[in-house]
Amino acid sequence: MNLYNTKTGTIEPLKTHDDKELTMYTCGPTVYHYAHIGNLRCYIMEDILEKTLNYIGYNVKRCMNITDVGHLSSDGDTGVDKMVKGAEREHKTVLEIAQFYTDKFFEDCAKLNIKKPEIVSKATDNIDEYIKIINRLLEKGYAYKSGDNIYFDTSKLDEYYTLTNHDANELLVGVRDSVTKDEFKKNQNDFVLWFTKSKFSNQELKWNSPFGYGYPGWHIECSGISLKYLGEYLDIHCGGVDNIFPHHTNEIAQSEAYLGHKWCNTWFHVEHLNDKFGKMSKSKGDFLSLDYLIEKGYNPLVYRLFCLNSHYRSQLLFAFDSLDSTKKQYDKLIDRINNIPDEGIEEIDKIKTYQDNFKQYLMDDLNTANAMTVLYDVIKDDNLSGKTKRSLIKDFDKVLSLDLIKEVEIDDQLKNYALEKIEERKIAKENKDYAKADLIREELASKGIIIKDTKEGTMFSLKQ
Ligand code: AMP
Ligand code: ZN
Repeated sequence: MNLYNTKTGTIEPLKTHDDKELTMYTCGPTVYHYAHIGNLRCYIMEDILEKTLNYIGYNVKRCMNITDVGHLSSDGDTGVDKMVKGAEREHKTVLEIAQFYTDKFFEDCAKLNIKKPEIVSKATDNIDEYIKIINRLLEKGYAYKSGDNIYFDTSKLDEYYTLTNHDANELLVGVRDSVTKDEFKKNQNDFVLWFTKSKFSNQELKWNSPFGYGYPGWHIECSGISLKYLGEYLDIHCGGVDNIFPHHTNEIAQSEAYLGHKWCNTWFHVEHLNDKFGKMSKSKGDFLSLDYLIEKGYNPLVYRLFCLNSHYRSQLLFAFDSLDSTKKQYDKLIDRINNIPDEGIEEIDKIKTYQDNFKQYLMDDLNTANAMTVLYDVIKDDNLSGKTKRSLIKDFDKVLSLDLIKEVEIDDQLKNYALEKIEERKIAKENKDYAKADLIREELASKGIIIKDTKEGTMFSLKQ
């Protein structure tokens, strides 16, 4: 698998620390509002990455956090805690809105066929882990107390900008509120590991710690959760490009200072979804949710296809007329697949050749748009049996997850009913009672059972 690594700035063969298992960490949502379709683009592409890795034979152990405390509106140490802001907006407690938007996030993911990571952990459930890391950073001289907060001292590192060579100001894409200077920091890039001197009198969630009563910073959450569940060596860390700085840069700083060795090998970043005003963001308030697309009559999988049609490292501009074209594409695709007869034999060699083509594109830095062309080649290929085509489409859908062929479970009762009616129709036809035979066909259709007369006899399937 060749994958672009933000850390090296090149596409390189994927390296794993362990032969048996690949570890993958994903920055989860900050649950103070609905996820917007930009966030969901990020999770769709990470889902494709995980499924591709499975498809090509890796055993993936994946973990995602849920940010329910400590993420300030600047992505750094200024602004207000997004959770507190969300709770105020809705006159609810932080825990209430966290639960509501976490559930909502996973509902959206399910609608988009995004698999839930094997391990999902809330930031508020791992406070002991952050305390352990901060204690060690203090012992090792990488952290200091100032103005009652605990800061990470970036001047102690040989290199801070490990993910990028750019100037910090250029990279502050996540900054939305005006940035005020923190007079307690020793260096401009130092960041808070633990807040005790809360700027917000209404900060609801606080914990006792050796550093005082307070709460963790956002960056320490991801290091803590990743180290706890995935161990000292991480293979792939994912997120949107706005996480590169400061979030992921700070994660590397504190994790490697804590461990005393290199932590994560590959950094995978998904580019932004933009609208005509620029990057779609929750803090702008006016953003598109998946529910809004559904209300407008779009199948969520049309949005998934919209994302798969472009490369994850390119910015993607969202517009309804583009989504309309994708809707047409999706409907036509499903229609063409539905018309592929389930007949003939599975041609093993041909299946293997197409699978290799499909894999090759995905293994080329996750080229989903090219992988889609292999699907179209299969559909168009007159030299493939219907069975071969259907088997390949089903196989590709393990990664694409576009519900290309729905597996409909036929319960025994319905099956027996269909078989009885097919027998009745056969007798009617033998007696040249075609009117009765047609009636039976219609009766079956009204129950969603479609029949087809083939050389091998009458076959039936359920309408998709
Ligand atoms: P948040 O809930 O704000 O913590 O963001 C969740 C994920 O969505 C992070 O990995 C972000 O980097 C990513 N993200 C935020 N905005 C966008 C966007 N407009 N397009 C793509 N990904 C985004
Ligand atoms: Zn994170």
